[in-house]
Amino acid sequence: MQREHLIKPLLGHKYPTIAYGQGVFLYDEDGKAYLDASSGAITAGIGHGVQDIIDAMQEQAGKVSFVYRSQFTSKPAEALAAKLSDLAPGQDYWSFFVGSGSEATETAMKIAIQHWQEQGRHGKNKVISRRMSYHGITMGALSMSGHTLRRRRFVPLLEDFPVVAPPYCYRCPLHSSYPSCGMACADDLETAIRRIGAEHIAAFIAEPIVGAAGGALTPPPGYYARIKAICERHELLFIADEVMTGIGRTGAMFAMEHDGVEPDLIALGKGMSAGYTPMAATMVKDRVMAPILQGSRSVMAGHTYSANPQSAAVALAVLRYIEQHGLVQQAADRGRYLLAKLQQLAGGIPIIGDVRGKGLLLGIEFVRDRATKEPFPEAAGLTSRVIEKALQKGLLVYPASGAIDGVGDAILVAPPMVITEAELDLLAELLEAAIREVMEELG
Ligand code: PLP
Repeated sequence: MQREHLIKPLLGHKYPTIAYGQGVFLYDEDGKAYLDASSGAITAGIGHGVQDIIDAMQEQAGKVSFVYRSQFTSKPAEALAAKLSDLAPGQDYWSFFVGSGSEATETAMKIAIQHWQEQGRHGKNKVISRRMSYHGITMGALSMSGHTLRRRRFVPLLEDFPVVAPPYCYRCPLHSSYPSCGMACADDLETAIRRIGAEHIAAFIAEPIVGAAGGALTPPPGYYARIKAICERHELLFIADEVMTGIGRTGAMFAMEHDGVEPDLIALGKGMSAGYTPMAATMVKDRVMAPILQGSRSVMAGHTYSANPQSAAVALAVLRYIEQHGLVQQAADRGRYLLAKLQQLAGGIPIIGDVRGKGLLLGIEFVRDRATKEPFPEAAGLTSRVIEKALQKGLLVYPASGAIDGVGDAILVAPPMVITEAELDLLAELLEAAIREVMEELG
């Protein structure tokens, strides 16, 4: 046996080797099929092996794959920025292209801080985020993340940014319940701003629907309108981290459309290039760019692969494909279908405590006791067991933390938007079998 050289997430674990992908299925080198009900890491939004995207990649590769952004611009990058602005809530956005969601949120943070600096307001340099949130793995992005597990090792190196209550209705952190709570979790932001002082805060960042750090935590309607109003009242920029929710996933091109909110900055990634190449974006409203345009005229951010023409051509082709095939509407319709299926499934499986989400970004939270919502002990490794059992059956689902601050069990179910109803039936069947087997093993 040859020694290994590739660092994989779990060292020593034997990962299947994938040979190819087609539609919502991946096939390993032994020919085993996997229904990709997680779109990888909620990324492969249009499925695998789409010929239109492969053609677009080849076409651009035949022209030029790389130009450096401080020497040249390129047609795909210019066209992509214009297209995203057209599609975004309220339009009038600039785009800064990067290679990952972490870079996109970190750049958003830096642009927000620069926005205030250019106006002489140098004290406004903190970013408020929420407990149970994930905005990326780089130090700046991790500083803004309330993901206990991913932060743990680096806490001494991270900025001590403030966090507020997440909109986690199933286990309200404020011990209240909707609607009688009056959305007190949104008002928690205002309380924090008053405590810290708006003169110290540049922005508030939030995932429209919390993904990996909560398992599709979905706030009540109107939550983000309230958040935006609070930000405006106290002169904070609102950064919507749409890395997971953006580009159709929730049944709207941008999840913020559900609440009619136009964020000041938007981070995109994942579904933007649907996994075909690394590509992410920080979108910035005109009014946020204005002081920079009137001031230094230079955004202090950037990477070697920023605005890469190859990746931009792919992202453009992905957007075209989504529009041509009506996939945003399809995500909404198929999402309703899948949600109903999962709710039905929950009826017969007592360890399912909650089913939630929007479009094709759905979450299932597991509990030991449905009446008390008592979670399984960490040692039971419930989430990993469900993921592993599903994998054995040829189904991919994604792990998410459950209850407050990383304790508890939840998974994300987020298949590509091209999935058919028959494939959703198969998904539900395999998932039910996996969960039932885990339940039986636990006794
Ligand atoms: N923001 C959100 C909401 C995410 O879900 C993720 C990744 O899971 C990120 C940011 C970081 O993106 P990346 O892993 O591409 O750096």
